[in-house]
Amino acid sequence: MLPPKRKRGFSMDDCIFCKIIKGDIPSINIYEDEHVFAFMDINPLSEGHALVIPKIHAENLWEIPVAALSAVHAASQKIVHAMKKAMGPVSVAAIQLNGRGVNQVVMHYHLHLIPRASGGETLKLTTWEMIPGDMEAINHTGAAIAAAIENDNDQKERK
Ligand code: AMP
Ligand code: ZN
Repeated sequence: MLPPKRKRGFSMDDCIFCKIIKGDIPSINIYEDEHVFAFMDINPLSEGHALVIPKIHAENLWEIPVAALSAVHAASQKIVHAMKKAMGPVSVAAIQLNGRGVNQVVMHYHLHLIPRASGGETLKLTTWEMIPGDMEAINHTGAAIAAAIENDNDQKERK
C-alpha cells in the first residue's frame, strides 16, 4: 500500500515541530544530533514526558525514511537511559501515533517517551483490558498482512 498523500497546500513552514527544530518557537530541548531532535512535551501525560523527532519533515511511519526512523529510535534509547539516571527508577511507555484516526495531532513524526516514576500514578494509556479476540478473524487479518508484506514491491524503494 502506498503512503497517504500529503494534503495539498501543506508547507513545512506550517509545521510546528519544524519550527521548533529551527528555533522559531521555543522548546525545552533535551537532545540533538545530526538527524534527531528531542524536547519536553508541554502537555505532559506524566513527569518527564518527552518527544523525539526526525529533523527532516516526515508526517508518519509510512513516510519517514528508514535512516531517520532508525536515528529516532537509537536516540530514544539514549534518552530512556538518561531518564532512569535523572529520575530514578522509571518505566517508560514509548508510543507513536499515525493518522488522525488514532488522534495524531501534530503531523510530523514523533515518538512519545512517557515515563512513570516508581510509585507514580498509573498511565491510563497503558492499562487496556485484555479481552480475547475472535481467533478466526485474527488469523484472517494476520494472513492478509503477511501476504501484503510478501508482495510489497515498494519495499525496495523505501530507504
Ligand atoms: P500526537 O500528535 O497526538 O501524538 O501528540 C502531539 C503532542 O505534541 C502532544 O502531546 C502535544 O502536547 C505536543 N505538543 C504540541 N505542541 C507542542 C510544543 N510547542 N512543544 C512541545 N510539545 C508540543
Ligand atoms: Zn515538520
